[in-house]
Amino acid sequence: MTSAIAPTTTMLINGNRVPASSGAELPVTDPYLGEDFATIPDAGAPDVDVAIEAARAAFDGTWRDTPGVQRAALMHRFADLLEENAEQIGLLESRDNGKLVRETTSQARFAARNYRFFAGAADKLSGRTIPMDSIDTFDYTLAEPAGVAALITAWNSPMQLLANKLAPALAAGNCVVIKPSEHASLSTLAIADLIEQAGFPAGVINIISGGAAAGAALTSHPGLDRISFTGSVPTGRAIATAAAQNLVPVTLELGGKSPNIVFADADLDRAVTGAVAGIFAAGGQTCIAGSRLLVQRAVYDEVVSAVAKRADEIRLGDPRDPQTQMGPVANRPQFERIQAVIAGGLESGAHAVTTTGPLDGAGLGNGLFVRPTVFGDVSNTSPLAREEIFGPVLSAIPFEDDEEAIAIANDSNYGLASGIWTNDLTRAHKVARRLRAGTVWVNTYRASAAQAPFGGTRQSGYGRERGLEALQEYLTTKNVMIDLSGKTADPFSIRT
Ligand code: NAD
Repeated sequence: MTSAIAPTTTMLINGNRVPASSGAELPVTDPYLGEDFATIPDAGAPDVDVAIEAARAAFDGTWRDTPGVQRAALMHRFADLLEENAEQIGLLESRDNGKLVRETTSQARFAARNYRFFAGAADKLSGRTIPMDSIDTFDYTLAEPAGVAALITAWNSPMQLLANKLAPALAAGNCVVIKPSEHASLSTLAIADLIEQAGFPAGVINIISGGAAAGAALTSHPGLDRISFTGSVPTGRAIATAAAQNLVPVTLELGGKSPNIVFADADLDRAVTGAVAGIFAAGGQTCIAGSRLLVQRAVYDEVVSAVAKRADEIRLGDPRDPQTQMGPVANRPQFERIQAVIAGGLESGAHAVTTTGPLDGAGLGNGLFVRPTVFGDVSNTSPLAREEIFGPVLSAIPFEDDEEAIAIANDSNYGLASGIWTNDLTRAHKVARRLRAGTVWVNTYRASAAQAPFGGTRQSGYGRERGLEALQEYLTTKNVMIDLSGKTADPFSIRT
């Protein structure tokens, strides 16, 4: 890679490193230091047009007919480069969104794992032969790439979210236009160097940057065949509406209000650690955050006070310091939203079981720090239990038995992730079947694998990423039917 923290960055369109055609730029702020330290191009509709044209030309040119084994080789080279540069990418991303370097670095490595997984699938995409009602008809299907896909990511995990989309899109033979969030674009723009070094032909992977206007220009473009989006529910809805005008299929990975359920028979130490990981890792800025902690009444006080104690002890500070456990919130709008939710909760009489009040202490500087907060005895009908906060705020909710746990867990507009803590095998399977969520973790939380499909139900979105399922989002089925009879048929009757 070139200089990791470049003062000005460029986009990648048709193999060229370019600014926005208008010359517009957006500032990049370090959420720990509170300083602007770089700029990114703010693309407009003309840039989107050029990027989509480039992707289409690359697709129609050679990429759609490039054998899977060759696509796989490029993806493996790219994965090698990602691994070699993981620390540098992690540092850059951490500076951009305030997440711990050890988290952003391991996400870059995990991204590489995803490219390898899907590279392994690139030369195994096949259709099937279909037995017909007549031996005089031969029928088969072709699994073909959809074409040009727009990939739009959120700011919380740019490398990982991109890998969830780009890896299956490339494996399936698509060309892409990527747009990361304006709040964390640097790592995505920086990997343009690695894309070039890996040897992808110009136009196969294009990267633009910018805000909502650039995203809207991209997702309303009639030149797309697929859209994959990770972000908030309102933006997901806007994108699905825009895509509907062009009848473009969309994959939506949206928010969550995931239940993390602790039964009295669980190993409580592990469950408490799982609860902490579920909501305070990455400062709660994860779509899968276990933001509702459901605890069986018999162990409720013990579990909630242990989680609150751990929350109060979390070391906040410089995300580059390996001792730090929670960095700042990624950007000011998000910081203000979380502070308003905590203040609103306290004003409405919610009971905080963690320390409240302003944060002070060495190492916090100008950082956008939010105090890890646990509210106890929250009603599942209150906004604290219903609305995604995307911050380090946990709502603890007691329950009596399995039926009540399942009812509370499923009483949500969302359905992304869920956790179960129990040593009862039967209970684990039975509850897992009844939870309305795309992911169920048992005696773990926040575990990810390239092989395991991920996605939501209801307001958490639709479609799947990771796992072989993800390939389907970027493929289209063509059926080929051949008449072997050599006979001329009646033109006025259906042929079966
Ligand atoms: P956001 O919706 O504000 O922005 C996401 C992306 O969409 C950004 O790149 C943004 O520039 C772009 N965008 C904004 N308006 C647009 C428009 N009208 N048309 C097209 N693109 C537009 O979300 P965010 O604040 O960046 O991310 C936080 C949200 O993302 C949370 O709700 C979180 O739960 C969700 N998220 C979901 C997952 C998942 O996999 N399910 C993962 C991470 C984050």
